[in-house]
Amino acid sequence: MKILIIEDEPSLREIMQRALVQERYVVETAANYAEADAKIAAYSYDCILLDIMLPDGSGLDLLHHLKELRKRENVIIISARDSLDDKILGLDMGADDYLPKPFHTAELLARIKSVLRRGKSGGEMSLVLGNVTLEPDSSRVLINGKELVLLKKEFDILLYFMQRPNHLIDKSVLAEAVWGDHVDQADNFHFVYAQMKNLRRKLVEAGANIEIKAIYGFGYKLIPPAS
Ligand code: CA
Repeated sequence: MKILIIEDEPSLREIMQRALVQERYVVETAANYAEADAKIAAYSYDCILLDIMLPDGSGLDLLHHLKELRKRENVIIISARDSLDDKILGLDMGADDYLPKPFHTAELLARIKSVLRRGKSGGEMSLVLGNVTLEPDSSRVLINGKELVLLKKEFDILLYFMQRPNHLIDKSVLAEAVWGDHVDQADNFHFVYAQMKNLRRKLVEAGANIEIKAIYGFGYKLIPPAS
């Protein structure tokens, strides 16, 4: 799960970042409107924490831009402005929740979990392909009803592929989705190859009838069983 924190106040940004990393989210941050706008356009997130008053613009305009881009990110507005107008306007513009500052990190984490749960679509909690069932909520993978133990990143990779069966996934897109945009600078994708190798081996050993195929020189594709 990848979260973008948009907040210009450095200490608050760091507190939120630390709390989220501890919960094992992939976290990126933006300290101003321009930075946030560039990230929103280039990447996808599971949840965006959005400050309204930014030094170079309004968070509400970012919300508007998200809509224009037809993005479906979950958005939680975090705002010091205690104005009811902001809250109503924000929720009206498609934000999922509103958390007034100051707040406890425990409250923030609870709101994020709730928004992610709701955003995960109408009660359809688990993904099923062939004999593989993935439960995002409990982070469990079952093969023929038997639990397959995966490391966190292996689970994230499998989730990403199970949401996109038959799609050819470029390895750089995969790296960005699972590890965050700091991998942009990585000069190789050894970590992707290593995790993919382990995940594919585990799936085969557990008797999964889905296959994540390596497409030479490009990336990977999840092939569901022929029905
Ligand atoms: Ca601010």
